[in-house]
Amino acid sequence: MSNVCSALKLWLSTFFPSAPEIVAVEPMHHSEYKNIVVIGGAWCAMRLAQAVRTTPLPKGYRLIIIDKNSHFHYQFAFPRASVLDGFENELFIPYTKLFRSANEGVVVTGTVTEITPTSVKLSTVIHEFQSDTIPYQYLVYATGTQQTSPCYLAGANTKASGIAYLKAYQRKLADASKIVIIGGGAVGIELAAEIKEHFPEKEVTLVHSRERYLLRYAPKLSQRVYEILDNIGVRQILGERVSVPEGGFVEGKMTTLKLSKSGQEIESDLQIMCVGGKANSALLTTLSPTIVDKCGRVKVKPTMQIEDDRYPNVFAAGDVTNTEDPNSGGVAWKHGDVIYQNILKMIAAKESGAPTTPLTNHVIVIPQIILYLGLYQGAAQMVVFGRPILLPNFLIKRFFTRNVGADRIWAWMNQTMDPASVQL
Ligand SMILES: Cc1cc2nc3c(=O)[nH]c(=O)nc-3n(C[C@H](O)[C@H](O)[C@H](O)COP(=O)(O)OP(=O)(O)OC[C@H]3O[C@@H](n4cnc5c(N)ncnc54)[C@H](O)[C@@H]3O)c2cc1C
Repeated sequence: MSNVCSALKLWLSTFFPSAPEIVAVEPMHHSEYKNIVVIGGAWCAMRLAQAVRTTPLPKGYRLIIIDKNSHFHYQFAFPRASVLDGFENELFIPYTKLFRSANEGVVVTGTVTEITPTSVKLSTVIHEFQSDTIPYQYLVYATGTQQTSPCYLAGANTKASGIAYLKAYQRKLADASKIVIIGGGAVGIELAAEIKEHFPEKEVTLVHSRERYLLRYAPKLSQRVYEILDNIGVRQILGERVSVPEGGFVEGKMTTLKLSKSGQEIESDLQIMCVGGKANSALLTTLSPTIVDKCGRVKVKPTMQIEDDRYPNVFAAGDVTNTEDPNSGGVAWKHGDVIYQNILKMIAAKESGAPTTPLTNHVIVIPQIILYLGLYQGAAQMVVFGRPILLPNFLIKRFFTRNVGADRIWAWMNQTMDPASVQL
């Protein structure tokens, strides 16, 4: 059992390493730096920020992380926070202390609208740069996927609007009596459990198109999930699809949905789509028009460079890429790891004039997952000695917190999660 504990701790520590110290170093003028620009301030960016602390970039190079959100969105807790209130402000973490000095990096709040071979263009002028354009030597494209609400807070780019979004969704759920969740991926499963545990009187139906959940994982995991949801009273319909009415669902209106195979009808006054995201890849086609595959994902080499030989200095990471990996924060983190090693190698070669040492290849990640099925139960599959094993609930529960571990992200981003700072 100690091996299992170690595997779980190792998996968690990937996300929650110890906090950095702040050091004061005289910054240079913006125009003097060579920039590694990262579009998307999520897990890959976090890994890069951490890597800069432990293995600094050569002098003169720095990271610039650009995100349209003013705060890091801790999505892992959004299924719960769209049901339970009182901890929303813990899930939006300021980027302000991510770097120890301006020489390590800066975080820019803004939306990138265009990419050229040497710079990125934002939708507005960035005050500290006095320009809407930021030059780069290396670019990391990590824009993720666009999900549906309530787990993706479309347009809520500030902390206040993010909190308001979640609170509005809580009210919407409280007002509904018959809820249908369409899509039994991890998010749909977690959401179904949270809703039914908190509102046992409501009818909660989860419709999934496959005969079992989570196909990338062992069938036993699906079985465990099924049993837990069944025990708390979620109605589960597997191997069926629902047809979405033309023009979409009408909020608050009792609607009859028809199942594709059986023709059975389900009534609901709230429908939640959890059918997976659309990759945010279009922006990269402003640089490389054929870089997106037929599923809309960015084609990458094992080195995480994009599959366009004109741009060896452009990398992509995370959910937006077409690797065989599962979509997860941990995977985006690992992509960041490989990208950092390769950028260091390329810079070393460039600065010394020597040939580049062979670049590091990403190794496809074996899927691991922890599902939070309400406040008291969970299901998890970890890899121990190369083999997938299911964790018992008592072990998973040791890592449960109401905010799904958000406090550790605060600590890691060098912030204190106390009553004053959670308002920031
Ligand atoms: C509800 C939910 C729960 C999850 N739970 C878990 C979990 O428990 N464990 C786990 O490992 N994974 C979990 N995942 C999956 C995980 O969150 C994703 O796989 C991971 O976030 C992918 O990281 P990413 O960096 O590729 O993209 P994202 O996290 O999607 O980040 C992309 C970032 O890019 C920014 N961006 C996009 N376009 C632009 C632009 N043009 N200009 C500026 N910024 C831009 C966005 O604002 C966003 O911050 C969960 C996902 C969801 C939706």
